[in-house]
Parts: sequence; structure tokens; C-alpha cells
Amino acid sequence: MSGPQATTSPFQALPKVEPHLHLEGAIRPSTVEELARRFDPSFRLADWEWTRPGFRYADLADFVATMRGVLNMALERTDDYARAMYELLHDLADENVVYAEPSVSTSRLARMGLDIGDVLRAIDDARLRAEAERDIHAGVILAFGRGKDTQVAEECATRFADWRAHGVVGVDLHGVESAGPAAPYADVYRAARDAGLGLRAHAGEGMGADSVWEVVRSLGVSRIAHGVRAVEDERLVDYLAEHAIILDICPTSNVKLRVAPSMSEHPIRALYDRGVPVTVSTDDPLMFMVTMSEEYRALSEHLGFTRAELERVTLNAVDAAFLPEDDRRALRLVVREGFPRSTRPRA
Ligand SMILES: [Zn+2]
Repeated sequence: MSGPQATTSPFQALPKVEPHLHLEGAIRPSTVEELARRFDPSFRLADWEWTRPGFRYADLADFVATMRGVLNMALERTDDYARAMYELLHDLADENVVYAEPSVSTSRLARMGLDIGDVLRAIDDARLRAEAERDIHAGVILAFGRGKDTQVAEECATRFADWRAHGVVGVDLHGVESAGPAAPYADVYRAARDAGLGLRAHAGEGMGADSVWEVVRSLGVSRIAHGVRAVEDERLVDYLAEHAIILDICPTSNVKLRVAPSMSEHPIRALYDRGVPVTVSTDDPLMFMVTMSEEYRALSEHLGFTRAELERVTLNAVDAAFLPEDDRRALRLVVREGFPRSTRPRA
């Protein structure tokens, strides 16, 4: 199988910002194999159907079950999380990603019996080591599982201020939207906002516009992970554009999970053209076998995004970043300098 490092394309040279990826789904393939062989010496990723070219999952539930099966063998200890983070930032730096916000699932940590604070500190150490070695920065998004663990989320809320000092920059709501409403997390989101954390939720992926409206209204998010099905509601599209609510879109993920029929029919083009601030990410580069350079190439080749438009999308991701404005300003300069001057959009 080809790993992320195998990619070479003109898109690799462009500076990129990746706001939407899950640490658990972003483990380096060779590391998955190495870790899984602790349990099964004959484990090979190539034996899994999802690693075959052109594979599409039946739906989001199928994907979640498949990913859980892989991770149950590969991501077990606090050290595994730290290693995943360290290697991820190196792999992203190879892709010329200059800033990323990987998320970590608190419901999985609770299910595995791992101490969330310990894992966050280990991930933070790994982040600092990688940042010292490469031209990349990262902030961690703490994610809660829909419909199952308001209790875990509520316990986390008492430690938001502590964890902010250990690299946590925002919160997110994950999982299949039909698992439960967002409203039970409203108090947790309020606590996150009060602690200075950014607010995002997954919505508008498995369910439609109502689900997007719900996270906007009940959680007060400034960003939505996916949100692509907002395109089904004109009024919502106008609202997102008018209020500059950012959609962290993952085109390949949407195609592989059948949220979009194909790359050339992906709604990111229509949303962009309607003035919705969109960003681009891989979601789970391991499970979707995709890199950021390939996502940029897909937008260019299948959806007609020009270099200037790709720069706009990248700058949207900078605007979206859960960072102090000074840091965002510095990132904007890096992005503007890295895109070819002749394609710079007019201010
Ligand atoms: Zn996601």
C-alpha cells in the first residue's frame, strides 16, 4: 500500500492548514502494523478490504465499526497516543502542513480505561518535541462522543482550564449524528467557551440541515465539522455565509462514506461559491488512505479550484484556527508567502 510519504505533487509544495483530522484515524500505517503485531504477529493492513484502491464504506456506521476493529489492536496505551501524535506531525510537515488541529476522542479514552489527563500530557510532550524539530504547530481538540457520554464530557469540563495549558485549544462533538441530539452538551460547551476554548461539532454529514441548525443554535459553535448537507437548505447556506460559520470539510471522506456521490459532484464547490467559508482536511488519513496534497489536487482537478481559491480555502483555515489572533496573523503570512504570488487573490 502507498503511505502518506509516497505522495509527490505540486500541491505538496503549497503551505496547508489542516483543521479536521482525528488522531486515532491518522496513525502512520507502518505504526499500525507494528503496534497490532503485539496482538497478532501476522497482522497486515493489506489484508483489510478498506485498504484496497477505490474502496468505499457502506456508510458512517460501517466506517466507525471498521475503524474500531483496527484501533482496538493498535492504539492501546498512553505511549501509543504520544507516538501517534509525534509521527503525525512529522508526516504533516512532510506534506507542508504548517498548522493542524487533530482531535482526540475522550469517549474512547474512557472506554479504554486510560486517564484522559495523562494522555493529553503525553500528547502535548510529543507535540512540543515535533514542533521543535519541524516547521509545524498544532493544537488539540477534545472530542466527546454523541449520545453516550455526557458524563465523561461533564467531568472533562471541570478540567478545561488545566488542559488548556497542555495544548488543548477547542472542543468537538463526534460520532454518528443519529446517536443523539447535541443539546445535552450545551453546558459543557458553555464551560469550554468560558475557559477560552474554541467550539466545533460534527453535523450535516449523516443527517441533513436540521442537524446543522441544531449545533449552531444549541452549542453556539463557530465551526462545523463536515456540514456539507447544509447545501440542502438555502436559508442555512445564507446563514452560514452571513455569520461566517466555518465548515471543516473532508471531501475524500465524504465520497468514501457515500455522503457525496463523487468528487466532481461534491457540494464544497457550491458552498464556496455561495460565500460559505470552507476549509479542507483529510478527516482520517489512515482509514481513507489520503493526504492533504491529494485533497488539494482533487479540488483542483475535479472541482476547478484555482490556486487563488486554494489559497482562500487555506486562509479560511487560518481564520478558523483556535489560536490567539497574533498567531493567526503569523500563519497568514506563511500561507501568503507560500502561494505563487501571481495567483494571490485581491484583498
Ligand atoms: Zn471528523
